[in-house]
Formats: sequence, C-alpha cells, structure tokens
Amino acid sequence: MKNSPMAKLILGVGILILVGLFFMFDLDRYFSLATLKNELDLFRDYYHGNRGLAIGIYMVIYILMTALSLPGAMVLTLAGGAVFGLFVGVVIVSFASTIGATFAFLFSRYMFRDWVQGKFSAKINAVNEGIKREGGSYLFTLRLVPVFPFFIINLVMGLTPISTVRFYLVSQMGMLPGTVVYINAGTQLAKIDTLGGILSPNVLFAFVLLGLFPLIVKKIMGWVKTKKIYAGFSKPQRFDYNLVVIGAGAAGLVSSYIASAVKAKVALIEEHKMGGDCLNTGCVPSKALIASSKILSQAARARDFGLDNAKISFDFARVMDRVHSIVKKVAPHDSVERYTRLGVACIKGRATILSPYEVQVTGVDGDQVLTTKNIIVATGARPMIPQLKGIETVSYLTSDTIWDIRTLPKRLVVLGGGPIGCELAQAFVRLGSKVTLVHRGERIMKKEDPDAAKVVMERFRAEGMDLRLEHGAREIRVNGEEKYLVCDIPNREPGNQDKNQEQNREVLIPFDQILVALGRTPNVSGFGLEALGVTLGPGRNIETNGFLQTNYPNIFCCGDVHGRYQFTHTAAHESWYAAVNALFGSVKKFKVDYSVIPWATYTDPEVARVGINEQEATAAGIDYEMVNYGIEDLDRAMAESQSHGFVKVLTVPGKDKILGVTIVGHHGAEIIAEFVLAMKHGIGLNKILGTIHIYPTMAEANKYAAGLWKKQHAPKRVLAWAEKFHLWMRN
Ligand SMILES: Cc1cc2nc3c(=O)[nH]c(=O)nc-3n(C[C@H](O)[C@H](O)[C@H](O)COP(=O)(O)OP(=O)(O)OC[C@H]3O[C@@H](n4cnc5c(N)ncnc54)[C@H](O)[C@@H]3O)c2cc1C
Repeated sequence: MKNSPMAKLILGVGILILVGLFFMFDLDRYFSLATLKNELDLFRDYYHGNRGLAIGIYMVIYILMTALSLPGAMVLTLAGGAVFGLFVGVVIVSFASTIGATFAFLFSRYMFRDWVQGKFSAKINAVNEGIKREGGSYLFTLRLVPVFPFFIINLVMGLTPISTVRFYLVSQMGMLPGTVVYINAGTQLAKIDTLGGILSPNVLFAFVLLGLFPLIVKKIMGWVKTKKIYAGFSKPQRFDYNLVVIGAGAAGLVSSYIASAVKAKVALIEEHKMGGDCLNTGCVPSKALIASSKILSQAARARDFGLDNAKISFDFARVMDRVHSIVKKVAPHDSVERYTRLGVACIKGRATILSPYEVQVTGVDGDQVLTTKNIIVATGARPMIPQLKGIETVSYLTSDTIWDIRTLPKRLVVLGGGPIGCELAQAFVRLGSKVTLVHRGERIMKKEDPDAAKVVMERFRAEGMDLRLEHGAREIRVNGEEKYLVCDIPNREPGNQDKNQEQNREVLIPFDQILVALGRTPNVSGFGLEALGVTLGPGRNIETNGFLQTNYPNIFCCGDVHGRYQFTHTAAHESWYAAVNALFGSVKKFKVDYSVIPWATYTDPEVARVGINEQEATAAGIDYEMVNYGIEDLDRAMAESQSHGFVKVLTVPGKDKILGVTIVGHHGAEIIAEFVLAMKHGIGLNKILGTIHIYPTMAEANKYAAGLWKKQHAPKRVLAWAEKFHLWMRN
C-alpha cells in the first residue's frame, strides 16, 4: 500500500465504517456468554458436520475481531475451547489471535507511527532504544499478564521500532499460556456463569507469576553472567579501599572528591600531572593563549574603535610564559595537597588493573597492589595521530606538545577543523603566524549548523587565515629544508557540482610547523583492560551501561575515556554518577542524565550550544520551529564593535518549549547559560521574555530571540479585536 495521506485516509475511513457497522447492527450481542451457552449445541453440530469450513469461518471472524480491536475475543476464545476441544482449540486460537493482533499492529504502524515518532521524537528516543534492546522481553511480559488489554498492546507496539516478525513470534509465544487457560475454561463452559468467574484469584495469581517470569529470568541471567565474568578472580576478604580512581584529570578528581565527601576510603592514582588534560594541556592553557591573542586582535582593529593605531610588540616566549604561569595559578585547585586534605589518598604512579578487585601502582618507589571494592577508570584521551605517510619524518605538534614551543611558527599548518584546531589556528593567526587550516570536510565545526560555521569561517578569512576546505591530507613530504603537507583536493570544473565526476589533484602546502588536531582517542590500552576483557565501543572508548558500569559491574568509567562527550564539565557530570553508583549502587543506582548538555568553542566569535541544532533535528526527523535573532542589531554588541553572530532557538512547534540553542557571538559561552538553566528546569521562551535583562548587555540577545518567538505566536484574533476596541474608544 502506498504510504500516501490518501491511502491512509481510505484505510482509516474503511476501518471506521466496519467498526461502525459492528456497533450499529448491535453485533456484539452475539459475543456474550449467554448467547454462546444457548447456541453451543448448534455450533458443535455444525463443527462435526463441516470441520474444515467451521474452522475457517471461526478463524476469519477471530482475525477480524482482533484486527479491528473489537470486543468479544474472550468469548470467542471460550467458544473455541467449547467447540473444538483443548488441543485443536489452542492451535486455532493461537494462530488466529496472533494473526489478528499482527494486522492491528500493522494498521497502527502504517497509520500513526511516523506521526508519533515525529511529534514526540525527543521523548520517544529513549523508548525506541529500550524497545530495540529489550522490546521482545517487554512484549513477552505484556502478553503473559492478561490484565493489560491486548488490543492496546497491539496498537502501541505498532508505534515502536519492534520488527513485525519479532512482534508476531513473541506475541504467539507470550499469549500461549493465556490461550491454554481460556480454551481449557471453554471446555468447561457449562460450569461457567460469568466471564469474571474464569479469572479466580488463583488463576490471576498464576498469570502474574507468568508475567514476572521473564523479569525473573532476566535477573537470573544477569546474575549468572556476572558470576561468569568474575569467575577466576578471588575476592579479597577485606578491601583496602572502597574506591580506586585511575587518572587525576577532571573526571578522576571529581570522582574522588565525591567519594571522600561521602566518607568513603578512596585512592587516586595519577602517573603524570594532577589536573590531567584540562589543566595542563587543554582548557586552561588554550584559554590563556586565546586571551593574549585577543588583545592583538583588538589592537589590529584599533580603527574600529576610533583609534589611529595601537601597535603591540611582544615576545612570543613571554606569552607562553604567561600561559604556564596561569596553569601554575590554577594548579592548586587540583593539587595533591588539596586532595590529600580532602581525605583522598593521592598516589603517583602508573596504575594497572590486575583483577576487578586489585590495582597495581608502579611508582618511583616500586610496585604496590591496592585491593578495592570498586574501580573508576578516568584515564582520559590523547591526540589522535593519523597514519600519514612521512609523518614520522617531522616533529609534529599536538595539543599535548604545543605548549612547549618558545618560538612563534612562521608558517603553521593546522590539520583539523574541529574545536581544538579552530581555537588554536585563530590564536596563532592573531599572534602573527601564517596559518593554513586544512580540513577534509566542506566546512569546519561539522557538529554545528552551517550558518554557525559560516560566521566563524568569514572571521577566520578576514583575519588572514588560509582556510583549505575539502583538502584530504595524504602525506608529509620533506624536500631539503622545506616541509610540505600533501593533500588531495577535488579537481572540479567551475560550476560542476557532480562529485562522482571529479578526479582528485594534489596540492602541496609548505609549513614550518604542523599541528595535528584530528580528535582525541580514549586511553584504553596498556593498563589491564585488554587482559580483563573490558568491552570497548566502536570508537575504542570504554562501553558502559547507563549507570556507567562496564561489563564488570564494579568497574566504572567516566570522562574522555568514556567518550560520549569530551568536555571538562561532562567529565565532572559523569563522575558524580560513577562515584555515587560505585559507592551506593547496591542501594540505589542513578542513570546518567544527558538531556541538557551545553558546550562552547572558544573561537572569536564564540560558538555555544545546548540541546539540538537544526542539522540534528533534521537528521532525527524532529519537528521544530526556529527563531534567529541577529546580534548585529544588539546595542551592546554595537557599542563593543562586536555586532556579528546570532542567537538561534529551536522550539517545539506551537509551544515555547526550548529544544536547543546555538549562539554565535561575543561571549556566547557565557550568555547561553540562561538557556541551559531554562532547558534544565523546563522554563520556556515566554518566561525568558518576561524576565528583566540588564541594559545594555549581550545577554539581552536571549530576550530578543524570545521576543521574536512571541511575535511569531502573537494571538492574531485577539489583536484584531483589540484594534477594533481602540477604534471604538477613539470614536
Ligand atoms: C586544547 C584543548 C582545549 C580544550 N578546551 C576545553 C574547554 O574549553 N572546555 C572543555 O570543557 N573541555 C575542553 N577540552 C577537553 C577537556 O580537556 C577534556 O574533556 C577533559 O580534560 C577530560 O578529562 P578526563 O579526566 O576525562 O581526562 P584527562 O584530563 O585526560 O585525565 C586523564 C588522566 O589519567 C592519567 N592516566 C591515564 N592512564 C593512567 C594510568 N594507567 N595510570 C595512572 N594515570 C593514568 C593521565 O595522565 C591523565 O592525567 C580541551 C581539550 C584540549 C586538548
């Protein structure tokens, strides 16, 4: 059947007519216990005279009744038992009821699934995931427990992603015990006076037990699986620690902080520097460098501020000294001293997991083995190094090593247009390097909407960055003193957009230094995970369940090594769940809440986001409305000569509920906080509009975006009446 609105309309109307006729002609009177008892002899005689035909007619009626979700299936089932006997009755009813249920399921799927999935996609994703994972066992339970009306199960299941074959098979198996009970009751029909009589407390209890059966089986299987995974490891009688945390980056620090706050005995093992990436080679140094480069950019735009010129001379090594001094200044927050004071046993050395209960630390003083009830793996990630031919012939830079340079690279190639590449490329172009940003895709910042990336790309080009898009890096070639990055680019005729016809051609980009910024690989090898068989995900991240448990339920993970998000604040967020679930999971476990995750890229202008953007909404088939407030209109932005960018808000159609926000602009990462709070606590645009914002601030942009939404949803009829009212008042 064609998936067209007309076909749906015809089918819907057809079914409505059939259902209407059923009730109009009072056909349900034939499906009562009294009718059945009165006519039983007649039915039996007919069956003995015309076995095949009687079974056929019965099946067609049964299938129609269940397919159309009409009442009477219970009486029909009893009749099956009374007329055909136990064995034949069970076989016939089992097939007829499942076929009919499957028709109802298909009808609901055809008519409503796309609409429901589109309309409620934000909420339904979790249900879809659950159904994909455990749809069979949910359905089996629902089928076994007859207190749920089957016609509702058929229709609701049609709206989920469960496959038709699975639905059919599970339904047939799940309904079988109930069918046997009802058919058996039918064979005793003469003794049954009311339908309620079939469901005596004993029978109902048996059904509930049957319903719980799959859950009990699941629990037992989980227990057996856990037993199996821990087999071969001896559990110590006593543990040195409640929790051993491996890695003292954001994730490890917050995990151990929480553990010590709730009085657990916790050890934190770090092989390198306390504070991990964020403090030493990530957020802190990058933001410090960006701050220096921003001053140079302001000076370069002196005329925009009415100044003739503002030349700044500087020594790059001193700029890097400042970067290191900032790291030093922040370091006490993450120091051994502070964490020791908090009650955490900080141990320097490399951790190796020997068993789910033992962690070996190899430090300067030799090895020690700690026994522990739980382990949190918070080993972070490292720069991904591509397998480029010749890469080993140059001393390339990464986000780990760039902080050690003392001389400004004259020509810097930045390989990768993600957040780290973009932030550092702009900082270096402002510091005076000739920067070429090489990116494989058609635009930088692929996770953000194209209009957001466009604003940033325009700024990059205006500042003198050589932006090379659709450049596939292939090789690093060294020719005497000169180094080149060899890239393949599409050899496209002007105006020819047909990618199938293009042949690549080679370009050579000379450089003095190359920064590899192609993403970050989780640190999962060399410390015992392989030997233990801890399951990894497709991105070689550690795979966990929603409670951040690995396949060893007492080994948890959080932060970059988990890899779902790679930010400091998400590492900290996950740490709470990992620590609390590790320490209190036997009493209550908490599923990580990823519903409102914000982040920012600290280019100028900043690109900040919370929730979904347009490209994600489109990919997921989520309906949305959108308002886009251009910051060029904002008084404060004009006063600061920063009038560029936008606040884009996606909302649920017809409602002020926020689905996601992208802000591109000066201080975007700061002003998005209002939307983060709003989304987290279900505050809509109406309330943002009704909140006083200080004038003149960049944050006013949020209110103006809410104002645009209000304008779009102005009550036109009421306003027309208001106009008439004012006219009347004037006259
Ligand atoms: C240039 C750059 C800029 C960034 N800017 C931002 C930003 O502005 N905002 C933001 O939110 N995020 C930013 N990030 C990302 C952020 O730094 C990371 O998401 C965060 O540091 C992850 O913390 P983590 O604890 O998971 O891992 P890490 O900080 O990497 O910590 C892991 C620690 O584990 C240790 N370790 C590993 N294996 C062992 C072992 N076997 N034994 C003992 N110790 C071990 C490592 O030495 C390391 O110290 C940036 C990253 C980079 C590279």
